[in-house]
Amino acid sequence: MALSGLDIFKLLPKTNCGECNLPTCLAFAMKLAGGQAKLEDCPYVSDEAKAALADAAAPPIRGIVVGKGDKQFKIGEELVLFRHEKRFINPTVMGVRVSDTMSDDELSAAVEKTKSNSWERVGQRLEVKLLAVKCESCDAGKFKSCLESVRGMCDLAIMPMTEDPEIMKAAIDVIADLNPLLYCATAENIDSMGALAKEKGLPLVIKGNGLSSLAELSEKAAALDLKDLVLDPGTRNLKDTFEALTAIRRAALISKFKPFGFPTIALPCEETDDIFFEGASAAVYIAKYADIVVLSSPEAWIHYPLQVEIQNIYTDPQKPMAVDSKIYEIGSPGPDSPLLVTTNFSLTYFIVSGEIEASKVDSWLGIVDSEGQSVLTAWAAGKFVPETIAKFINTSGIAEKINHRKLIIPGYVAQISGELDEELPEWEILIGPREAADIPVYLRNYVSAGS
Ligand code: SF4
Repeated sequence: MALSGLDIFKLLPKTNCGECNLPTCLAFAMKLAGGQAKLEDCPYVSDEAKAALADAAAPPIRGIVVGKGDKQFKIGEELVLFRHEKRFINPTVMGVRVSDTMSDDELSAAVEKTKSNSWERVGQRLEVKLLAVKCESCDAGKFKSCLESVRGMCDLAIMPMTEDPEIMKAAIDVIADLNPLLYCATAENIDSMGALAKEKGLPLVIKGNGLSSLAELSEKAAALDLKDLVLDPGTRNLKDTFEALTAIRRAALISKFKPFGFPTIALPCEETDDIFFEGASAAVYIAKYADIVVLSSPEAWIHYPLQVEIQNIYTDPQKPMAVDSKIYEIGSPGPDSPLLVTTNFSLTYFIVSGEIEASKVDSWLGIVDSEGQSVLTAWAAGKFVPETIAKFINTSGIAEKINHRKLIIPGYVAQISGELDEELPEWEILIGPREAADIPVYLRNYVSAGS
């Protein structure tokens, strides 16, 4: 049972030293109880108190790591029900299901397509990270060889799927060092599947038959000292799965109900044969509240919009998306190429760089740190003003790369050109277009005019 703020306060040193960046021990206790502070932030907690506080300090939903290497991912550790309350932490992971009954060619095509689902969008990499390999042959040898083939073809995290502990045991060694997610333990096989997960030190999905049986199964898993669990409510239709995922998240965060304090998995691939309905169901589960969603198809048209949904939900609403402040080369700019400058709001950067690319005029693009704000907002906030632009230009090293001293600023801040002239006396300040869409024409005119 989670401790209250006052329970925690009783175990703290009560010196109000402030080293935890909070004014009092009571304030720290309240934050710790709400999952908004870490126990390590107080250097003076005794070992006895640490042991007693371990429960309160742990996130209400345990973090689970799956896979190894680049495609390793972490799920869970969520603290809020709604994104606007703070932010969501670990994005939903998308997976694709393949089967050990597929031919070699079918398997290879599915794995290759799954691997190709990788896109860069506003500076972030969106990709499918999990391959769910289902044993449909009921043949341990075939399952094992399929897992071995998958391992040889990709570095995606793997989720071997069988409810037969003997088959899992016979096949798992070929991928056990990759930290796969075992699917799954049920009320019938929890002892043997749990023992296997424990012996290999692997995370395990437990599948209930509705919420009550899932809670019982989770308690049984806890009694077996299994800690890295992922919850599958066992529901296999949109309404029930949506309700179950929501109830699990609410129980974990509001009631601190420990059996549900784990990440969840949804399998729309097992709910319908209609790929469009499967995609729509996945969209619902991403929003509420699946940590892993597995589809039957590796096709990009179904994965890309879902990845964009995940990206939108899991960005921090209090922190604008920003790119690094530096000089970017668009194309292959040389000493005579034009130099433009704008802010580091991601969308601004991607729109402006896209239009420069479209112009086919190789250019330098200076991105000034405006704390992720767009041009006019940053100007109004004093972040994109002559002093900051001049400081950026003077420290960026661009002067050593170009022969000219012409700087193109966004048309929306034409009013700062006079002051910028004073800040950069050796430079000629040119007013660029107000709208990014007009950049190609502007740059082509710039080149044809010889400056
Ligand atoms: S660092 Fe520890 S002792 Fe100091 S105020 Fe914070 S909780 Fe209290």
